[in-house]
Amino acid sequence: MFLGYGIDDAAYSDYEAADVKGKAILIYDGEPMNANGNSLITGKKELSDWSSDWKKKLLTAKAKGADFVFIIDPNIKKNIEDNRRFLLSSRMRTGDSENPSGMLPNSMYVSSTVAKTIVGKKFKKVVKSRDKAIKSGKLKAVTLSTNLTVNHEKNVNQLIGSNVLGYIEGADPKLKNEVVVVTAHYDHLGKRGESIFYGADDNGSGTSTVIEVCEALVEAKKQNAGPRRSILVMLVSGEEKGLLGSQYYAENPIFPLANTVANVNVDMVGRVDDKYKDNPYYIYVIGSDRLSTELHEINETANKSFTNLTLDYTYNDDNDPNRYYYRSDHYNFAEKGIPAIFYFNGTHEDYHRPSDTVEKIHFEKMAKIGQLVFYTTWELANRDKRIEVNVKGRN
Ligand SMILES: [Zn+2]
Repeated sequence: MFLGYGIDDAAYSDYEAADVKGKAILIYDGEPMNANGNSLITGKKELSDWSSDWKKKLLTAKAKGADFVFIIDPNIKKNIEDNRRFLLSSRMRTGDSENPSGMLPNSMYVSSTVAKTIVGKKFKKVVKSRDKAIKSGKLKAVTLSTNLTVNHEKNVNQLIGSNVLGYIEGADPKLKNEVVVVTAHYDHLGKRGESIFYGADDNGSGTSTVIEVCEALVEAKKQNAGPRRSILVMLVSGEEKGLLGSQYYAENPIFPLANTVANVNVDMVGRVDDKYKDNPYYIYVIGSDRLSTELHEINETANKSFTNLTLDYTYNDDNDPNRYYYRSDHYNFAEKGIPAIFYFNGTHEDYHRPSDTVEKIHFEKMAKIGQLVFYTTWELANRDKRIEVNVKGRN
């Protein structure tokens, strides 16, 4: 069935013309424009999101019960060229395993020539119907009858990722149901061709720091001096593919998020960036004051008392163009309203390159940061009163 532009809008709707349930529909890309060059949707030269948001028509067709959508794109050659990378690359996301068919209906972009070939003689009617709809603002759908087999192969791979969790139960019966979560991502970029992306700094440094902190906590517990609150030590996967492991945990937490006091996240702490080449004992601190001033103060005090690193808040600026606050695993906690602190040494010439190797790690610096991570975690887990969320509007 030809269904105009496949638009369902208050200003203009093709779906008033026919019931599309169980049918394959043929629609035009874009939106109807009148003789003055104004959109029938916006009434102006500007196009609506029916033109800019490619998912909108597909979601609508799915909601209306259509089985398949052919979209005639008169500029298909240019569009394929412009979107080549997006079209060819795969995408990874956390599983839709309960809904394997996904949200979108099967669809195919075709050129006008291919559409003509599919429809045959009736294509003239299609064009006429479209032109009339543009003039009158009302579509008359065209029922088409054609024999067509579409062979549509979707390459879907299910990959299993694992977060690795260690639990140190708190020693204080009144506080142990509250938990501090310490995280680092252990995945990196893998292999491309023959090149191995070792990821010593990103994030071998964070992973081993968290294991060191964990070891110290366990040792304290062995000596009957363990933390009062519980501590969850978690190495997450899928960070480089979009913070997937931490997202999964935040959506499927083992311990209630309401009882989660804070997240302490370590991602790249073994190298020295350009700005600090003469002073390796620094660390960028991101996020600490965005939800709780107490978290910020705890880290500052721990540093003053024990580690004396230069704490740099450059990347914590709300307007920092790098947006690191949103780019590591702590953000999935912060997004849920849990105060989070992120330790980061900044980027360098080996960032996301096969040359991020272990002999370039500055271990003395890394050890100092590990101590700061430990002392901050320790205070979060041991102070009488749980830290408060007392900042708004910076998340
Ligand atoms: Zn990283």
